[in-house]
Amino acid sequence: MSRVYNFSAGPAVLPEEVLQEAAKEMLDYRGTGMSVMEMSHRSAAFETIIQDAEKDIRTLLNIPEDYEVLFLQGGASLQFAMIPMNLMKHKKADYILTGQWAKKAWKEAQKYGEAKAAASSEEQNFSCIPDLSELSASGDADYVYICENNTIYGTKFHTLPDTKGIPLVADVSSCFLSEPVDITKYGIMYGGVQKNIGPAGVTIVIIRKDLIREEVLPGTPTMMQYHVHAKAGSLYNTPPAYGIYICGKVFRWLLDQGGLPGIQKKNQKKAALLYEYLDDSRLFSGTAAKKDRSLMNVPFVTGEKELDARFTAAAAEHGLVNLKGHRSVGGMRASIYNAMPYEGVDALVTFMEKFEKENR
Ligand code: PLP
Repeated sequence: MSRVYNFSAGPAVLPEEVLQEAAKEMLDYRGTGMSVMEMSHRSAAFETIIQDAEKDIRTLLNIPEDYEVLFLQGGASLQFAMIPMNLMKHKKADYILTGQWAKKAWKEAQKYGEAKAAASSEEQNFSCIPDLSELSASGDADYVYICENNTIYGTKFHTLPDTKGIPLVADVSSCFLSEPVDITKYGIMYGGVQKNIGPAGVTIVIIRKDLIREEVLPGTPTMMQYHVHAKAGSLYNTPPAYGIYICGKVFRWLLDQGGLPGIQKKNQKKAALLYEYLDDSRLFSGTAAKKDRSLMNVPFVTGEKELDARFTAAAAEHGLVNLKGHRSVGGMRASIYNAMPYEGVDALVTFMEKFEKENR
């Protein structure tokens, strides 16, 4: 077996222990004689799987009873529409633009109401989080929207905006369960799971119960109404059952790592190794503003396109794969999610040092 160090932004590396355990259970899940893939979502075995998954994510995030946990489909991108369709009571919302994903959500929301850009770092090519002290939140907005970790640019909100009581909606796709958070500061926290939690196909929405309303915008499809899924315990229709099963295993794995404080320590150690090297390097430099650096996505460049391409190709030959940066930033990006071991980042830094010596 030859596993690579996979630095993909998503779908991304999953814990090896989880994959091995799932492989063992592939043909016969705990004496049922079938795979979870083949199982009715109404069966007792699957009911236990989804209930345990919910219980464990509640433990990890310390989610109180007045929040609902929904396991949905359609990716993070479907939430770009579901959020305004369910929350825009007054047809007004504020968006903080920190990258392409926030912009896509903002554009989608404009179809349903007045979505205002309350702050933006687009002039800085989204290399930083805008100064939130200048945030001009509308007093009558139904929600304030952020993309908490910007996968493409490697920036993260280290302080949440003060929304003055207006519900905060956050896309946490690329920082889900990577460090402890105070869930009560959010109206909705949501994300696709394919970066930090499981296989593509599951979207987790954690939503404060008072934001789940039956009075959604006219024409909102049944499948896009939070209250429908909440009432059915995420089993209104056939859910992405196998994906939920893997998410459940990752939640257990995270609990074994010491929960979110435990994984945060590991993530900080990995990111520090890479950032410290980048700060000292005379060949490579990080592209995100230091104060806003993400623990999860680390974009960097040499400043020369041809050299960047040569580095990415040479790294891949050494089993360090998917390091090509997003086309809007160029260069490289190392995504070092929860399941990336320290050894993977160490191998990357060692390879970068060698490449630097040979090419400076
Ligand atoms: N939001 C963020 C922060 C992302 O990084 C991505 C995908 O990379 C998305 C949203 C879109 O997710 P999906 O493909 O699940 O719709």
